[in-house]
Amino acid sequence: MHAPASRPPVEVNGRTYRWPACPTVVICFDGCDPSYLEAASAAGVIPTFDRLREEGTWASALAAMPTFTNPNNVSIVCGVPPAVHGVSGNFYIDRETGEAVMMVDATPMRAPSLLAAFSQAGASVVALTAKDKLRKALGRDLSGIAFSAEKADTATAAENGIDNLAGLVGRPAPDQYSADLSLYVLDAGIRLLETRRPDIMYLSLSDFVQHKHGPEEPEALAFMAEIDRRVDALITMGALVGIVADHGMNDMSNADGSSNVVYLGDVLDKAFGPGRIRVVCPITDPFVRHHGALGGFVRVHLQQPHIDVSAVAEFLRNTPGVAMALLREEACARFDLPEDREGDIAVIADRGIALGARATDHDLSQLAGQRLRSHGGLSEQTVPFILSRPLAPGAMPSGSLRNYDIFALALNGVEA
Ligand SMILES: [Zn+2]
Repeated sequence: MHAPASRPPVEVNGRTYRWPACPTVVICFDGCDPSYLEAASAAGVIPTFDRLREEGTWASALAAMPTFTNPNNVSIVCGVPPAVHGVSGNFYIDRETGEAVMMVDATPMRAPSLLAAFSQAGASVVALTAKDKLRKALGRDLSGIAFSAEKADTATAAENGIDNLAGLVGRPAPDQYSADLSLYVLDAGIRLLETRRPDIMYLSLSDFVQHKHGPEEPEALAFMAEIDRRVDALITMGALVGIVADHGMNDMSNADGSSNVVYLGDVLDKAFGPGRIRVVCPITDPFVRHHGALGGFVRVHLQQPHIDVSAVAEFLRNTPGVAMALLREEACARFDLPEDREGDIAVIADRGIALGARATDHDLSQLAGQRLRSHGGLSEQTVPFILSRPLAPGAMPSGSLRNYDIFALALNGVEA
């Protein structure tokens, strides 16, 4: 049974959330740059989104920096930026030991999620992800249902709060490298809404399609149309639906189709001597092949104490393709990042350019001849922010809207 709306609000990470008055579904539309909505709208394939633009809440928000999947998913479910929850990439370099520490499970999280807090307060909560790597973080301390489309076939009641998903969804788990991975998440959400009517659902998709296809390509338009139908189904069943993205997506290729990459590792080796400065690409993902570990944000770690960090930062600022090179304290203050997991210098690329370590560190054959499309920098920070219902007067915050405000506005800002 759906709990009554008179339950007390839930406080987590310094924010207060009203108890959901109806099933509240937040979709993290992975890699949904606003340009995908514009192109699909112009092509006439997303009537539900077009309707929400008129009847619901339609805004833009800023994603958390760096504009990667994990930091933003964790920010969205915690309602706060990486400075608070600690997840600022797929891995970080331990500043004491120099070791790379993965941030793909729940261990690096320093803050509770609002999903966990609601589940502990007695709400029925569901967290579904496309890729399994996010499932542990999103399902941390959650007593409810948490599984990934990727590993749906092996979900168990003990581990995931549910089993026999092929029976529920009507098909086996999809391939990890497919558009269907995202659609499966939505289909499972629709079936769970039908059969269990949870109070809160978080549905996190995959950016497989956006990494491979620009907004106007037929594959992207077909994908948008499939998403649109499923959003409509969720709304039709009475859910309040919120949609944000974890990051946008940009083409980072030259006119001839080759990748437009500045290999900062090589550039810094040449300028300051080999092996003295380490470039870390926190987009590097041991599970995914589609972006060659290249994006618009890298961290620079000085390997020797006598190198002048300001001189390196100044050199980076004058390097073509670099939009910004910020010293750690400055980067953390500006982008709400955790200082102990930041490099000595945070480097952000110009729009349309990817930053790499050394050329030999990256396997561009992963792209299989396709144009490089990726994210990570400021050019991918603007994302859609959509609610299926209008906000109450005065509910829109006066400052800049963040993607991790979506639960707050869905639960507190919409008139019941
Ligand atoms: Zn993503």
